[in-house]
Amino acid sequence: MIEEKKNEVAFKYYNKIFELLKNHHEWFRNSIPLIASENLPSPAVREALISDFGNRYAEGWPGERVYAGCLYIDQVELICIDLAKILFNAEFVDVRPISGVCANLSLYSAFTQPNDRMMALAIPNGGHISMGKKDFFGTAGLVHGLRVEYFAFNKEEMNIDVDKTKEKFEKMVKEDKEIPKLAIFGGSVILFPHPVKELSDFFKSHNCFVAYDAAHIAGLIAGKRFQDPLREGAEAMTMSTHKTLFGPQGGAIVSYERYAEQIKKAVFPGNTSNHHLHSVAAKAVAFAEFLKFGEEYAEQVIRNAKALAQALHEKGLKVLMENKGFTESHQVVLDVTKFGDGGTLEKLLEKANIIVNRQLIPGDIQAGRHYTNPGGLRLGTSEVTRLGMKESEMKEIAEFFKKVIIDKRNPEIIAKEVSKFRKDYQRVHYAFENVREAYSYVNVRT
Ligand SMILES: *Cc1c(COP(=O)(O)O)cnc(C)c1O
Repeated sequence: MIEEKKNEVAFKYYNKIFELLKNHHEWFRNSIPLIASENLPSPAVREALISDFGNRYAEGWPGERVYAGCLYIDQVELICIDLAKILFNAEFVDVRPISGVCANLSLYSAFTQPNDRMMALAIPNGGHISMGKKDFFGTAGLVHGLRVEYFAFNKEEMNIDVDKTKEKFEKMVKEDKEIPKLAIFGGSVILFPHPVKELSDFFKSHNCFVAYDAAHIAGLIAGKRFQDPLREGAEAMTMSTHKTLFGPQGGAIVSYERYAEQIKKAVFPGNTSNHHLHSVAAKAVAFAEFLKFGEEYAEQVIRNAKALAQALHEKGLKVLMENKGFTESHQVVLDVTKFGDGGTLEKLLEKANIIVNRQLIPGDIQAGRHYTNPGGLRLGTSEVTRLGMKESEMKEIAEFFKKVIIDKRNPEIIAKEVSKFRKDYQRVHYAFENVREAYSYVNVRT
């Protein structure tokens, strides 16, 4: 490329990137964000994220680093660990995994060998790709070579079937003479607490390590409004730090002192080199906020999920698990097969500035529905709660769903209504400071 052309392309794209970023911020400040795996970090978390920590290397444990220059980084990481220990009432915490998947992979490395068996939820029943089989390019199978067996699942209860899971396990013990080495609870669709208490002793009596993937639920656990896996028998718990926990994108593992060395080595050098130190700083900030506001926030998140589910149900949408009060978490799952498929409706709602994701629900695969056109939508109330919305706002949101999905109103017109509705919710709640608007675009270049 000639010099002049190079400059022109560079400059054009350079400017275009910032234009797109600003458009995104503007779009989200006018939308209803309901992706269950997302949340809104506070301005304080965002400040930590753009600090110089993000340009450094540490590697290893605070005080035993591979790199110089960690004087302040070490202190922040130790604070982060301390806060997480309090939040999760845990003896040992590793905040270095750079994502939930990285935390799971570290767990697999620490407690299993390739080719071992493990038990987890199947994806249409709420399992996550990181627990998936090799055939489906799941991380457990593809990367660590684990052979995944599924927990038996009760669709009516939307939960793991304790008796059938035990039967399945015992059959593996007897007939295959092969015991799963790891059982991992938790999932991406999780409406109710999993039967950790009911199954942990059984698994452990067969020397099967018991873990809990709290990627989605970590904030509700730290907020003391969901089950407490470490007290119910789980020996380690992995998580994302940005779903119900309102930190930066990242991961963590909490466990007991007796597993500390195994986990530490699996995280570094096993599964990380650089562990994104700006994210560690931001995690520390979020954990401090969580210590102060987490219980109140988690309470409201769940109240909002229940209120949203109830309102959607009253508007004529099919919400899963009516007989059990719809949900005990931040999630609400809709069966939209009466109105189309999840893929089409996700796009329609997006045009109306309502951001949700399509979701495989139990029975989809048998009915020939797949990931692009599943029968469900999954909604989460973390981010709208963070914006200060309460039960009455959930009713208004349900009305928007009705207008788009049932009344088939023009989504572009609904988008305008949504934008108007959003005007009063522009600050981050449950944070020490919120002078800056939630989706403000921060310019540090000029
Ligand atoms: C989201 C999720 C993960 C992965 O977390 P990332 O932080 O996106 O890597 C792992 N497990 C479950 C159950 C999840 O829902």
